[in-house]
Amino acid sequence: MERLYDEIPKERFLDVEENYKVICENINEACYKAGRDPKDIIFMAVTKTVPVELINHAIDLGITHIGENRVQELLSKYDRLKLDNCQAHIIGHLQTNKVGKVIGKVSMIQSVDSEKVAEEIDRLSEKAGIVTDVLVEVNIGQEESKSGISAEKTVELLEKISKLKSIKVKGLMTIPPFCDKMEDTMVFLSNMQKLFVDISAKNMDNISMQYLSMGMSSDYKEAIACGANIVRIGTALFGARNYK
Ligand SMILES: *Cc1c(COP(=O)(O)O)cnc(C)c1O
Repeated sequence: MERLYDEIPKERFLDVEENYKVICENINEACYKAGRDPKDIIFMAVTKTVPVELINHAIDLGITHIGENRVQELLSKYDRLKLDNCQAHIIGHLQTNKVGKVIGKVSMIQSVDSEKVAEEIDRLSEKAGIVTDVLVEVNIGQEESKSGISAEKTVELLEKISKLKSIKVKGLMTIPPFCDKMEDTMVFLSNMQKLFVDISAKNMDNISMQYLSMGMSSDYKEAIACGANIVRIGTALFGARNYK
């Protein structure tokens, strides 16, 4: 079979094109059902384990936001990514000692879940003369295996971050627990929506509730029904991940 690059078969590029179209149609349909405008939804491509050539292909198709989980992987791809019209976000748990490596490189850190990491982002952003946008990650299912702050402690953390000058909260992010039944997932998605709406209504100083980042390959349509405006999609766009 014809090959465009050393290791990536042409078929995979065509799959991404087809998947991209299908996901856009699904987003449009979910918006129609929910009475929402598709223009308000950010379709973020999640790029862990995905080769740069395929990511750039997705960007050529119209992807405007990509999300990487690990700092090291992002940095290894960074210089080859077509980021002129595309934002890169960190969406995985960020260790305090890695913050310096991404400040000024990423447009947003979606996974802030402690005062400690927020203070480090603030300190290094101030040093660089910039303000870094972040989302606070909420562990809506209270799973021990997951990072994120509990729903009960979210306001308290937001209050602390709001006092920092070089970090700006733009909303909330979550990964709901994996459930066999979509109706169970929906409970977590709507609990998250409720938290988002409640916090928005507080109009906290220096906190903007602009983005609700939730929904992945298996539940982005339902997440849109529950108010998400950033959906983070990996597998449905790029195919199953190969961690080899
Ligand atoms: C991997 C990942 C996704 C995408 O998951 P898929 O099921 O492959 O769409 C979204 N968000 C985060 C934080 C992830 O780590």
